Amino acid sequence: MKTIMIVTDGLGGRPTDIDGKTCLQVAETPEIDDLLARRGTGGLMDPIANGVRPGSDTAHLSLFGYDPYEYYTGRGVFEAAGIGMDLTENDVCFRTNFATIDSNGNIADRRAGRISESQDELEEALADLESEKFPEVEVRFKRSTQHRGALCLRGPELGGNVSPTDPHELGIPIPESSGQDEKSKKTASILNEVTQQARKILDKHPVNEQREKEGKLPANAILSRGSAKYPELPSVEEKYGVTSSVIAAGALYIGVARVAGMAFKQVEGATGTVDSNILNKAKKSVDELEKGKDMVFLHFKGADNASHDQDAEAKTKYIEKVDDTIGWLKKNTDWESTHLSFAGDHSSPIQYGDHVADPVPVMITGPNVRRDELKTFDEYSCMKGGLGRFSGNLLPMTLSYSNQLPKFGA
Ligand code: ZN
Ligand code: ZN
Repeated sequence: MKTIMIVTDGLGGRPTDIDGKTCLQVAETPEIDDLLARRGTGGLMDPIANGVRPGSDTAHLSLFGYDPYEYYTGRGVFEAAGIGMDLTENDVCFRTNFATIDSNGNIADRRAGRISESQDELEEALADLESEKFPEVEVRFKRSTQHRGALCLRGPELGGNVSPTDPHELGIPIPESSGQDEKSKKTASILNEVTQQARKILDKHPVNEQREKEGKLPANAILSRGSAKYPELPSVEEKYGVTSSVIAAGALYIGVARVAGMAFKQVEGATGTVDSNILNKAKKSVDELEKGKDMVFLHFKGADNASHDQDAEAKTKYIEKVDDTIGWLKKNTDWESTHLSFAGDHSSPIQYGDHVADPVPVMITGPNVRRDELKTFDEYSCMKGGLGRFSGNLLPMTLSYSNQLPKFGA
């Protein structure tokens, strides 16, 4: 049997979304209602636990069956893994921004004017970064989209409890990082050293000389935040005995899944925004299962983007686009031998514009599921579903329906 787990980021909403209804209620979702509600069983899920407002990273860990209180070390490591950096348990990672420092040495722009060209050349120049104090520590920098990137320090005895050099503030110098314990103090001192070195390398870089000539803000510093030591979690294969792939576009989600041992598969047109080609992502998922993978994790990001933008119309439209994609999956999946779960990783109501602790609607469909009476899929119908209300662990629940889950005990 095969398993597909679909997470539509920020799916859940509140009656304040649109005239007393949630976006999911307003959206036309005939395919979701048919494949999931009528042929499946539904419920409400607290992504981590009741009364916990989830981040996307902690929520995904919990949905995959990892206790985030045990394994979550910070965001940097997932961002780095998500942009393709290979990591080991000796890595401490940060998310970075290219930033602009003015002639007084103060931060003038945290995003270097949202730099959109020549970042490859800057990345190449930063390949020379190294610690003189701790030459055994390997320093790696990789750019991502626009001003974004990641910095990883690899070496023995490095701690991850380190304060950021990105103060989220303008008009002040880059703050010195400090560490909470002996090992983290070492990390902080290397981070400070590397931050100064990057200033020197970038300041004189031809890309920045050119930018200044053109009246653009130079990318003459990197600011780091989200410090995280690589979490030593067992892979999905070690934990459940299944091979798996992740189909996603956002670096954070790709990163969480890669750290959990899922193989990342690139999809053309997948952007992680409301405009993403999510049909191509569904097609790739089916491909992966046909090529022999036991499980695919498919992530749709757009609903959360629209929620943060407080755009109810965009969220509703995006949910309808997800519905079309479910329609394609309905026709192109062998439903005799596949279980599919569909949920949000947290609720993101339009009026609040951020994640809340409200439970998310969830459905599981497939041949081994005890169908309930639900006819539609939304936050209200799911209150009456057969899955009741539960916390996280959606992946192992779905794997169990597919007879793929190892037994606990004798
Ligand atoms: Zn999320
Ligand atoms: Zn979000």
